[in-house]
Amino acid sequence: MAEKIECAKCTKVVCGSKESDQGPSNCPTKTKRDIIQQALAEYDKPEVREFARQASIQEFECYMDLPEGTTTRNPRVEEVAQFAKKMGYKKLGIAFCAGLTAETKILTTILENRGFDVVSVICKAGGIPKETIGVPEDHRAAGWDTMCNPISQSEILNSEGTEFNIVVGLCVGHDSLFLRYSHAPCTVLVVKDRVFGHNPVAGLYLSGSYYSKLMRKESLDP
Ligand code: SF4
Repeated sequence: MAEKIECAKCTKVVCGSKESDQGPSNCPTKTKRDIIQQALAEYDKPEVREFARQASIQEFECYMDLPEGTTTRNPRVEEVAQFAKKMGYKKLGIAFCAGLTAETKILTTILENRGFDVVSVICKAGGIPKETIGVPEDHRAAGWDTMCNPISQSEILNSEGTEFNIVVGLCVGHDSLFLRYSHAPCTVLVVKDRVFGHNPVAGLYLSGSYYSKLMRKESLDP
């Protein structure tokens, strides 16, 4: 049986260098050559190639050289606007969480100031109660509790013909459905994290100290 791919545990990480064939025995650069070649062929499609090309250009432009050394310069909001402009998109979609309405208003202003036509859809659009999809009573707010409706968010943006969709704070799983149903390519601007101010990597940074409980061992059994 083939060895499991575990780049996250690799001690060599030579894949970003000219010695990319010097990785460990389970290195996908060596063991998955056929898949990598097949994937590479996808970039021959003109629209895929241009998307990937502009993404790489965008990434390169996020750094600049100063006398004291290389530094970063573009916050992600800037990067999203710059990438959309590079791609020639005119009409952008935003799928947002009701809890981030204020932030989405600001984002809309920023994008409109750059000349984009912006369509935004909130997660509760449709006003469908949670019991419609079988959410039990003890997992619903008392009285009326509207479900998040990411498939409707996708289909509404699809119907509006948005060219590039931006996710703002959709919940885990709701974001998955939105991404699955969106016709336009998507990017994520805000990842919901109710504890860490939508900065989930803070949980990883603190997993050796104040949030060491994240490292506990558990079984998958219920
Ligand atoms: S691709 Fe190979 S060298 Fe790169 S991190 Fe994965 S195992 Fe390591």
